[in-house]
Amino acid sequence: MAALFELPPQSAACPVVALNVDDLRYADVAVDSPVGHARSFTYHIPQRISVQPGQLVWVPFGSQTLQGIVVELSSSRPDFATRDILQAVDPAPLLGEERIDLGKWMSQHYRCPLFTALSPMLPPGFESHVRSRIFPSPQSGDETGGVGAHSRAPLREETTAAIESLSEKGRMSQAEFVKLLGRRGPRELNRLVEQGAVRREVTIPRPGVAPRYEGYLIPARAGATSDEKLPPSQSALLDAIRQPPGHLALAEANREFGGRASNALWEKGLVAQEWWRTSGGPPPAALAARAGTPGTLTLTAEQQQALSQIISALEVSFGERPHPNAGVVAQEGARLPERTFLLHGVTGSGKTEVYLRAIAHAISLGRRAVFLVPEIALTPQTLERVNAGFEGRVALIHSGQTARQKFDQWWDIRGGDFDVVVGPRSALFAPLENLGLIVIDEEHEWTYKQEESPPLYHARTAALELARRTGAAVVLGSATPSVETYYHSTRGRVRLLSLPYRVSAAQGSGNVGAPEPLPLANVQLCDMRQELREGNRSIFSRALSEGLSDCLDHGSQAILFLNRRGSSSIVQCRDCGHVASCRRCATSLTHHSGPPRLLCHQCNYSRRPLERCPECRGNRIRQLGIGTERVVSEVSQLFPGISVDRLDSDATRSPGAAEEAVARLASGETQVLVGTQMVAKGLDVPNVALVGVVLADIGLHLPDFRAGERAFALLCQVAGRAGRGGAPGRVFVQTYNPGHYAILAGTRQDYLEMYRREIETRRELGYPPFNQLAHIVYQNRDADTAQRQAGVIADELKRRSAAQGRTDIEVNGPAPGLPPRLRGRYRWRLLLRGRGLPEFLDDVEFPAGCTVDIDPAHVT
Ligand code: ADP
Ligand code: ZN
Repeated sequence: MAALFELPPQSAACPVVALNVDDLRYADVAVDSPVGHARSFTYHIPQRISVQPGQLVWVPFGSQTLQGIVVELSSSRPDFATRDILQAVDPAPLLGEERIDLGKWMSQHYRCPLFTALSPMLPPGFESHVRSRIFPSPQSGDETGGVGAHSRAPLREETTAAIESLSEKGRMSQAEFVKLLGRRGPRELNRLVEQGAVRREVTIPRPGVAPRYEGYLIPARAGATSDEKLPPSQSALLDAIRQPPGHLALAEANREFGGRASNALWEKGLVAQEWWRTSGGPPPAALAARAGTPGTLTLTAEQQQALSQIISALEVSFGERPHPNAGVVAQEGARLPERTFLLHGVTGSGKTEVYLRAIAHAISLGRRAVFLVPEIALTPQTLERVNAGFEGRVALIHSGQTARQKFDQWWDIRGGDFDVVVGPRSALFAPLENLGLIVIDEEHEWTYKQEESPPLYHARTAALELARRTGAAVVLGSATPSVETYYHSTRGRVRLLSLPYRVSAAQGSGNVGAPEPLPLANVQLCDMRQELREGNRSIFSRALSEGLSDCLDHGSQAILFLNRRGSSSIVQCRDCGHVASCRRCATSLTHHSGPPRLLCHQCNYSRRPLERCPECRGNRIRQLGIGTERVVSEVSQLFPGISVDRLDSDATRSPGAAEEAVARLASGETQVLVGTQMVAKGLDVPNVALVGVVLADIGLHLPDFRAGERAFALLCQVAGRAGRGGAPGRVFVQTYNPGHYAILAGTRQDYLEMYRREIETRRELGYPPFNQLAHIVYQNRDADTAQRQAGVIADELKRRSAAQGRTDIEVNGPAPGLPPRLRGRYRWRLLLRGRGLPEFLDDVEFPAGCTVDIDPAHVT
């Protein structure tokens, strides 16, 4: 719970920053309220305070007091009544113009309130709510029960009673008082406050994380009378405040001269008071001397070529003589400036090396860089290299940080302590000034899309928008670029830089000249239908188990990949066919061993395993399907005595567990690592000679147009884990669909084969990049309401597109969601396909229970 602190009464009246904004007396404020469709509201700025765009302020909103961000100042009086901004939350603006502008774009594109769009850019811990207390009016006489002269209309009985009990108690919380007022409590309360029948006092809490604010007294600005004869304590205090450095901490003033002296001086207008954030905690580590280039390797010709293109884009924007149009906000619909790059290279082709040198160049031009990675825990090697390349100047944002650490880090970044910010998608919003370069590693990863809570943004799209506004260059890197990004590179909107070969660290170190290209891993497809026909009922094909045995004999390590956790995916009664499923979701439960539980992977519902079938009371329960736990136990049975480890979200619940598992593999302690897609990312262990994909088909048949692309990318990534040392690794891909194009292309690690197939299908069906999508999910506890309401929404949208003559917009559905029931709510979904969907949907009001996801990453 946030500690409450009452601002001293004078703070509301203190000039915060002396700015020349005297004629700008109106402000557009993005208010922290989901109510209303408007993106911002206009407020009047009272004389006693001055605010700037980007500043967080308290404003009255209905009967509440809420936070808001000033997005614009204006001098013209609006033609409607405005209310006053109450006070600033923080003395200085938190957001610069570019970020505010990005927020406006996000709010429009992703359809969310402006405050919501801006909130990921705010320092952590500002989510706080005020507490209001009600006091009897000071003027009220006892004999009238506290109402008397103030009432214009006769009071309701409930109101009189409420005021009486307020007088008895002396004060009440707003909630308590409103309850006494009865049915129309909030409105009645506002009326009473306006009439002066009761007094409301708003207590403004500290932000969730206490910023270290300290009050300071400073001499008042010119014009304050100073000749007045002052009592000795006050004149001594005034002298102390006027001494250099020209301010005195309030706490110290109160201690030495008494609280009344400072109050008196303030009341006389002789001093002003300001709240300054004090940098508590240890000072930021002394910045290391600016190191030279991160590496001493000789770049390959391809790396050199890629780097020099990025460098010339940086020079155009930020060099000695920047291009006159560099950094200009592009017009709506205009082509992206030529400073967006796709660095396409297989794992181990030297992309990271290029990123690091590009960052070094940006820094040499006085710029800063953001480096996004899909998941922090899984990319320790990349992080280490960034850190080593720019020692002491890298801020790492990660989920293991405490709120306090995040908060302090935010301010340190803003204070200019760091040149590079590394982190997951949200790191894009770190308050870095002078942004020059944004690197997005593994740009195709869906973790870059926020799917849980609004704003439902994609970090890649947002990065391009931020780059437009800052002139920054953007480098998107991947071995398996998203089909959309690759398509843009063929249309000249993104510049394609290719690193077609693998390079080896072993060859690079100390070598003069460019290293030889290394062969890719040798991939073997294993047809599991054939295995079954030939009587192999094990989860391992003969080829994989022989390969595994060979690998272990040679003292090498192996990774087994299966994109499903648990030990079995279906628990079924052999007699009646009953499948154990979640009570709240329409999903089957997964068996997890040790301690044995049945788990819902959607909502985490958990129960004891079935001993008897709840339908027929039979006791022949079987487990179908496999998960990572099952693979671990099979491996242990097959190769007794070897060390097997598991890396999936069950095994890595505790903080640091994923890093430890990765470290155990790197040190050689783990011989076989079994895991979900977590093992597919970023692991770079030279001694891993074998990778087995236990079942490549998982996810392949989902009704999502990206299913094939994803399966392909995952296969390539997993295969890239093998043979990172010298010798080419061996990869075994087990499948029941050996003819599927994604599996075939994945086996050959042939991106273009997959891409050509995929882009044709997308063109035919009108999927991205040829159209935009909006995924609308409507949920309701009642099955009929859910279906009916989803139909109403669909009809409305169809009517709308017809009325606007938008024949290009297609409204598909409603169709049952996947799963059709989630956490007790029935789900129906609509898929809109067309162009300019944010504009089309701009003023549509969706009912509660509806989620609108623009450019969705998943459409199930
Ligand atoms: P990617 O990011 O594409 O997976 P990296 O940049 O991590 O590739 O490079 C893979 C390995 O090759 C790393 O160990 C790196 O140090 C090494 N490497 C990169 N570029 C060169 C080079 N030009 N010469 C020698 N080794 C290199
Ligand atoms: Zn569930």
